[in-house]
Amino acid sequence: MTQNTTGKTLDSLNLEQQIDLQISTSGPISVATYMGLCLTHPSKGYYRAAEPLGAKGDFVTAPEISQMFGELIGFWLVNLWQQMDEPKSFTLLELGPGRGTLMADILRVACRAPGFRDALKLRLFETSPVLMAEQKAKLDVYDPKWLQNFESFDEGPLLIVANEFFDALPIRQFVCKPDGWHERQIGLKDGKRAFGLSPTPIPPASMPDAVAGAEMDSMLEVCFGGAEVMRQLAQAIARQGGALLAVDYGYGTTQTGDTLQGVRRHAFADVLDTPGETDISAHVDFGALGNVARAAGLATQPLATQGEFLTRLGIGERAAALSGANPGSANDIRTAHDRLVNADQMGTLFKVFCAHSPGLMPPGFAA
Ligand code: SAH
Repeated sequence: MTQNTTGKTLDSLNLEQQIDLQISTSGPISVATYMGLCLTHPSKGYYRAAEPLGAKGDFVTAPEISQMFGELIGFWLVNLWQQMDEPKSFTLLELGPGRGTLMADILRVACRAPGFRDALKLRLFETSPVLMAEQKAKLDVYDPKWLQNFESFDEGPLLIVANEFFDALPIRQFVCKPDGWHERQIGLKDGKRAFGLSPTPIPPASMPDAVAGAEMDSMLEVCFGGAEVMRQLAQAIARQGGALLAVDYGYGTTQTGDTLQGVRRHAFADVLDTPGETDISAHVDFGALGNVARAAGLATQPLATQGEFLTRLGIGERAAALSGANPGSANDIRTAHDRLVNADQMGTLFKVFCAHSPGLMPPGFAA
């Protein structure tokens, strides 16, 4: 076991003490290193140690608001499976499946399509042992397997869904200064964690064209991990056919701005406080992900807002049908519909991204 200078084992230190020790011995760390430690440190990371989701956790996601979200994505998936001539074997993969709610709602609907269940190979990609146990409990009847990487898939096309997954992957931040872009770092100032900048600018060639001519002090965020996940999955889809649907808060064209945010118990929190106990996320650069997907040979749809996408798929009709069947719940169903769709709630902030084999026509996007 690793010993530090005070003779304590690293494991006996909490995450905050470990991070501070690392900074004081090796110097400031990048935002991506900090975010990675906070979220996925093997024993003390946010997603490793506790239950982040739901009313008792720190935030509530679309599938936890209403079954309608997953049901409509279930119809969407059946539509694509049918467009691909109902392959006898295909992989359905979810990235960051949380409590398994989205996939349970998807499959309750999709498995009504004759042949879908028999053709299905369910794969999940998850870092949290707590959530993995919940996924197993909810989805066991579909015989899921958890992937460690994206190197190989069973034969047949791939349909991939991800809700609020890409926003949890660590980002690097760069700030524009007169002598170039400097990486933002976290160091210690008077014994407290504080943001600073790396003294050396990074080579200008590594900056995307989209930020050429940016104003002084503007900030660029780059999610290398997200781009790598997209590259591997897009290449697999290019080989085997299929589509990837990702829902998250984000933007469609690479732009500048600081979107790093901490959330704790349903309220904004300082990302530097209570590492491992605060959710940290950043808006997703769907422009960058789209470039990666197209470079692999896929087509992409124009980004839709969550409100547009769900409305085009028929959430209004679904809400009316559910209310008709459960009149006592009509108010709750209306509230859930509004939360998912309305512009002042999740409807506009959240975007829907789709990359797919050329030739498929995924529903829900502008023609
Ligand atoms: N999709 C779910 C959960 C969203 S929270 C929902 O909408 O309710 C983010 C999910 O991604 C969690 O399941 C979390 O454990 C998982 N996750 C975060 N970082 C990850 C990583 N680096 N690798 C795999 N899974 C990750």
